[in-house]
Parts: sequence; structure tokens; C-alpha cells
Amino acid sequence: MSSRVDLDGNPIKAMTICMIGAGGFIGSHLCEKLMMETPHTVLALDVYNDKIRHLLDADGDGSSNRHPWSGRIQFHRLNIKHDSRLEGLIKMSDLTINLAAICTPADYNTRPLDTIHSNFIDALPVVRYCSENGKRLIHFSTCEVYGKTIGSFLPKDHPLRQDPQFYVLKEDASPCIFGPIEKQRWSYACAKQLIERLIYAESAENGLEFTIVRPFNWIGPRMDFIPGIDGPSEGVPRVLACFSNNLLRGEPLKLVDGGQSQRTFLYIKDAIEAILLMIENPARANNQIFNVGNPNNEVTVKQLAEMMTEVYLKVSGEPALDVPTVDVSSKEFYGEGYDDSDKRIPDMTIINKQLGWNPKTSLWDLLESTLTYQHRTYADAIKRSISKPIAS
Ligand code: NAD
Ligand code: UDP
Repeated sequence: MSSRVDLDGNPIKAMTICMIGAGGFIGSHLCEKLMMETPHTVLALDVYNDKIRHLLDADGDGSSNRHPWSGRIQFHRLNIKHDSRLEGLIKMSDLTINLAAICTPADYNTRPLDTIHSNFIDALPVVRYCSENGKRLIHFSTCEVYGKTIGSFLPKDHPLRQDPQFYVLKEDASPCIFGPIEKQRWSYACAKQLIERLIYAESAENGLEFTIVRPFNWIGPRMDFIPGIDGPSEGVPRVLACFSNNLLRGEPLKLVDGGQSQRTFLYIKDAIEAILLMIENPARANNQIFNVGNPNNEVTVKQLAEMMTEVYLKVSGEPALDVPTVDVSSKEFYGEGYDDSDKRIPDMTIINKQLGWNPKTSLWDLLESTLTYQHRTYADAIKRSISKPIAS
């Protein structure tokens, strides 16, 4: 590992990273990559550690000799809302990565206060401690800061809707277009936009070294939870887990408002390669905002449902349902105040120029490996839960 070099041929020095939200979907994959392929140390902060338990030693703090990376990952169970240890952990580190957030759309319109607090207020001390202590910050924002495309405001059959200028999302040129305040869906995007602006201002006025990441629908193993198995039975996770849950239970997949919204999906392992390049190439990543997505993997949600069904039948060997999908209104599925992003194609110019990064994995391939994981991890537990008699 000592011979590892950055994109400019300079040796990469081992660093200590304070990773907030390390126990989540992205954090768990990033910790895995950092432990298995780099010499860096991670101070992993979260309220949960289930998704990184396999990386921690039996005593939970990485101090005994079990893994080859033993001692390089320490879990700190803490809530950044109210924990005086936070500043000290940031001070001990060379770099802070902030992943902590409420980031499931079902929460944006039903828990808007928690969403705004989590994505803006709770991130404020992290930005301040980094700035005051001269520490670099990689902050996770979202592609949702772009909101709706300009093209979505044109009449349905207008030819300019097909013009990339009306839908491709560019970090330094596209506007952020949200719906009215009563559409509380946008509470998340708006809070993320404001924290981006604050970080940008902190850099402009006080010299904070930052990188802002805008993920475009990263998916893969360990994303969210399966309701009733490793999460609340009434919970509504993001689309990958919702559709996985339906497939595992042999139920039709629910298409919100007909599933006409479009998304581009990026495999988590490709995404983690991009983040590692940012971590290890500060001169190229500092003071940049990066779209990180896969423009080649675009589908409507309806097409995603069809492809996931086909892949799932292949990996599970189960028979097809007579009615594989059903339409459901957004009000029925998410409640009052839901709204949607129509289309999300990332412009890749900046990340390509700065870091030479490109996504690799096709949608079919990433669904195949992810649904194989979902089936292996959950199929038996679901069968047991279905066969359990309901308590009277
Ligand atoms: P996740 O929910 O799996 O992970 C977030 C983690 O943060 C969780 O483990 C949670 O326990 C932790 N956390 C939340 N509040 C905390 C607090 N107050 N103190 C300590 N820990 C706290 O989500 P993810 O998909 O890994 O997303 C990580 C980041 O990336 C988020 O900021 C999210 O907005 C952003 N993002 C992700 C995607 C994606 O495609 N997965 C898309 C857009 C944006
Ligand atoms: N969606 C759906 N059925 C579901 C879950 C989600 O049709 O069971 C739709 C949702 O309305 C949105 C898209 O899938 O149009 C992606 O939703 P997700 O929760 O993954 O997050 P988003 O991309 O909107 O941030």
C-alpha cells in the first residue's frame, strides 16, 4: 500500500477521516473500501453500526486483533445533534466526511421539521468546526437540489423537451427549481441547497476547503431496509428497497402516479471509486461541486420495475405474477405534500475533467448483483414472517 500514488503521481499519505453517518448505506461501502484498499484510519460516527459491524472487531471499537485493518476503524456511537465529542473528533482528523441526513422521500412531506433540521441545522456545527480548525470537508448533498427540469414546464409535446439544454443538470449552470412551499417534498432539497450555499460562503469568506457531492440515485446492497424485517413494517424506504420488498413478498410493485418519472441509477461500487478519488486528490477536488451519477442508466420508474422483476425472477427462480405492477396515487402512497423530480441526467464534465472518473456498471448488471444480495439476505426471513400466525 505504501506505493499508492495520486492522480498527479505523488505518494498518498495515510490520513485520519472523521466519517459522520458512517453506519448508513454509503458510509458502510466507503468504510469497506477504505479498510480493504487503503491505509487510512476512520473514526466512524453514527447512531447505528449494524451495516459496518462486519468491519469492527468483536469489542466494537477496533482495538483487538481480528481483521487485517484492526485498529484503523473506531466506531463512536453518537448523535451529532447533541454530543460534545464532535469537535474533538473533527480536530483529531485530517478530513471530515458528512453523510448524516434524513434522506428518504417518505419523510420529506410527513416529517418536514426533522428533515430540515437534519439536513441544515445539524450540519451547521460540522461546517463551523471544520472551518475554525482548518480541516477539509467533503459534504454529501443531493441531485435533488436541481429539483425539476426547465423542460418540465414546457407543454408535453414541445420539441425543446428533447433538447439536452432543457434537462441535463450542470453543477455550474443549472438553476434549482422547487415547487411551492405547501409541496413539502422540497423541504429536503431546500435544506440541502442552503447548506451548500453556506459551505460555499464559508469557503469564500473564511477559506474552508470543501468538496460537495451530489449523488444521483446510488443503489446497491445494504440500501435502506426491508419493512418488517430490518425496519419498521409501516416504513417506506427508497424505490430499490420498496420494489425489493414487493418482489420478495410476491406482491405487485407499486408505481407512484404511473411510474413516469425518470431516474439514472449508479452502482454504489462505482460511486465509491469516485469518492476515493476525491479523498486522495484534494488539490483536484477542493472547492468543487461534483455530480456523481451514470447518465447511461436512465429508465422510467415503470421500466425499473419491469427490469427488476425480470432480474429477480432469474436470480430467485420464482414464477412470474399475473399482475406484476399496480398504479397508486402519490397522495395515497406518500400522503399530502408529495411532489416529484421529473428527470435527472447528470452532466459529467466536471468530475471527468478533475478526476478522470467514469461510471462502469450497466443497470442490468447492478440489479443482478443487488437482487442476488437481497434474495440471499432476506428471502428466508420473509418466508418465516409470512408463515407466522398473526397475534390476536
Ligand atoms: P443512510 O440513511 O443510509 O445513511 C445516513 C446515516 O446517517 C444513517 O446511518 C444515520 O443513522 C446517520 N445519521 C443521521 N442523522 C444522524 C445524527 N444526527 N447523528 C449521527 N448519525 C446520523 O443514507 P445514504 O444513502 O447513505 O446517504 C448518505 C448521504 O448521501 C445523505 O446526506 C444523503 O442525503 C446523500 N444522498 C444519497 C443518495 C443516494 O443515492 N443514496 C442520493 C442523494 C443524496
Ligand atoms: N417510487 C415508486 N414506487 C415505490 C417507491 C418509489 O413508484 O414503491 C417512485 C417515486 O415516486 C420516485 C422514484 O420512484 O418517482 C424514486 O423514488 P426514491 O424514493 O428512490 O427517491 P428519489 O429518486 O425520488 O429521491
